[in-house]
Order: sequence, then structure tokens, then C-alpha cells
Amino acid sequence: MSAPSTLALADVFPTELQHLVGENQPLNERLWLGIGGPARFLAEPVEVGQIAKLMQAARQHEVAIRILGHGSNVLVREAGFDGLVISLAGPATSGLEIDGNCLRAGAGAKLTHAAIKTVGEGLGGLEHLVGIPGSVGGAVVGNASAEGRDIGSVVRSIDVLDESGQAKTISAEEAGFSHRNSTLDGFVVLNIEFELEPKEVDGLTKRMQKLWIHRGQRRPADTARIVMPFIDPDSISTRDLIINTGLSGLREGDVSLDLSAPQYLVTHENATSDQCLRLIDRVREQVLLQTGIDLQLNLQIW
Ligand SMILES: Cc1cc2nc3c(=O)[nH]c(=O)nc-3n(C[C@H](O)[C@H](O)[C@H](O)COP(=O)(O)OP(=O)(O)OC[C@H]3O[C@@H](n4cnc5c(N)ncnc54)[C@H](O)[C@@H]3O)c2cc1C
Repeated sequence: MSAPSTLALADVFPTELQHLVGENQPLNERLWLGIGGPARFLAEPVEVGQIAKLMQAARQHEVAIRILGHGSNVLVREAGFDGLVISLAGPATSGLEIDGNCLRAGAGAKLTHAAIKTVGEGLGGLEHLVGIPGSVGGAVVGNASAEGRDIGSVVRSIDVLDESGQAKTISAEEAGFSHRNSTLDGFVVLNIEFELEPKEVDGLTKRMQKLWIHRGQRRPADTARIVMPFIDPDSISTRDLIINTGLSGLREGDVSLDLSAPQYLVTHENATSDQCLRLIDRVREQVLLQTGIDLQLNLQIW
């Protein structure tokens, strides 16, 4: 589906939703890579109930829809996205509440905030994910993992809107978590309930701080404009694979793999999305040629 270019905002969205939506809005400032074209329509709901209404209006006019969390895993092409982008990074969708052993998180809450809050309450299960950029919703959809443990392992249930805009609650089993993946594609994740384990606060805090420092040290020091485009294959880390194949620092125009942490793709001044895509293709091709490993993309291309 794509929005016929003649449709204006007022043609698609009813009056009561129009104040939430902007037309031809830049996306680059919401993305870690800092590049890419605009969204035809961009909405940031101020109440959860508005999400289904926005989607319904878009569907009625055959306008394609994408959900944006904190933009740490999305590359937008130069042409932009010809449809409706709904950002869930606002306060309406970013609450964090603890009840007993359970954390209830809005999809837009920062993953790092969720880790810090639960550790402070003496609840273990998310502390190893501290410092991974992005939202809780984005992490659950992509089954983010670190230190050999994925986020799906502590999910109890997920409130979603399904493809027809119906609200439902699904179990962790139904979410089909596997290595850096889930079967949540096509759903909008609204809230997630985590079942965590009571532990001693001091021990959890020390572990979290250690992992956070270690994670920071493994990142390119001088830039914030980075993504981690590939999923680690089962047998070897992407970092080692790229070092072993001599591709560290590989450059395509104003985009490069970092020299010392080559699992990160870095955009420099004047970088373009096309350059990113060409660099990704070159890396995949070379790795396949030299090792027979077909690197899978983590990065979502819009
Ligand atoms: C420096 C750096 C380090 C990283 N380290 C790790 C790591 O150690 N381990 C790891 O697993 N990942 C890592 N990542 C990848 C990234 O942080 C995760 O993929 C992150 O969880 C994405 O969350 P986000 O909110 O930024 O998602 P976005 O980039 O906004 O979106 C990513 C995808 O998820 C979809 N999505 C987002 N929110 C929702 C929702 N609520 N409902 C439905 N779909 C949604 C989007 O449509 C898009 O397809 C790293 C990334 C960077 C830049």
C-alpha cells in the first residue's frame, strides 16, 4: 500500500485527529543514523486510544503505516516514507509501573530506564540490557539480547493492536521469540508485562553498572550516529567475523564500519542512505564469499 501523492492530511484524517499529525515531517532527527528522507505523515499520539483511530483512518485511504520507537534500528531511504509514521516515543506510551515481581512498561519507555527502575526495586531480569539504545517495544519486537540472554525470556504478556486494529493481549509463547526475532511483525506493541525475579539490590546494581561501563567501552567513542546493522550469527560474533575478513573500517562515501568496533556502521557528515545500503551489501557479499556465512540484517529499512 502507498499513499496516492495527491492525498492531503485533511483528506486522510478526521478533524479530531488532525492536530496530532504533521505532513512531510523530517525523520532524520528521530533516528540514530541522523539521515534519510521525511515521513509523508507523522503522528505522536497523546493518548493510547488515538493509535487505533490513526491507523483506521490511514487504512481507509490505503496509506501505509510504520511504528517508530526510538529509531536506533531504522534506516529511512532518501525518498522518505510515503505513508503514516506513528511515533510511540512520547509520554502517553512510555509509562513504567512496578507491581510485586511484575514490571508493566509502555512500548515507548526507554529500555535503559526499565532496567534501572527494576534494579532499584530489587528485581532481576532486565539489568543485562542496560545501555542498549531504544524503547522497550522496539526491544521486544526484535527480541533484543545481550550476555546470552534475550528480553523475551522475561516477558509475561503483551498488549497489542493486531493488523485489523483490534486490541488484544498475547502471551510470550504467542509472540514466538527466537534469536533476535519474534513473530510480532504486523502488530503494534502497546504495553508489555515482565515477570522478574526478586534479588538483592546491591548485587544487581553492581552487575548493571559493570555491564553498562563495558558496553560503553566497546562502542565507537567519537560519534553518536551509529547502528548495529547485522545479527550475530550463532557461531561467531559479527565483530569477529568482520575483523577476520579484513573489513574493519570499510568505507562507502561518507559511511563506514568503525575501525575498532566494526560491528557498528557510522554515518559521517554528508552521509546518505544509499551509501549505507551499498556498504551493507558489500559487507554481506564479502563475508559470504570469504566464509560462506550469510549475515542477516537487524536494521529495518523503510
Ligand atoms: C549503539 C547500539 C548498540 C546496540 N546494541 C544492541 C545489543 O547489544 N543487543 C541488541 O539486541 N540490540 C542492540 N542494538 C539494536 C537496537 O538497540 C535494538 O534493535 C532496539 O531494541 C530497537 O528499539 P527502538 O525503539 O530504537 O526501535 P526503532 O528503531 O524505533 O524500530 C525498530 C523496528 O521495531 C519496530 N517497532 C518499534 N517499536 C514498536 C512497537 N511498539 N510496536 C511494533 N513495532 C515496533 C519498528 O517499526 C522497526 O521496524 C543496538 C543498537 C545501537 C545503535
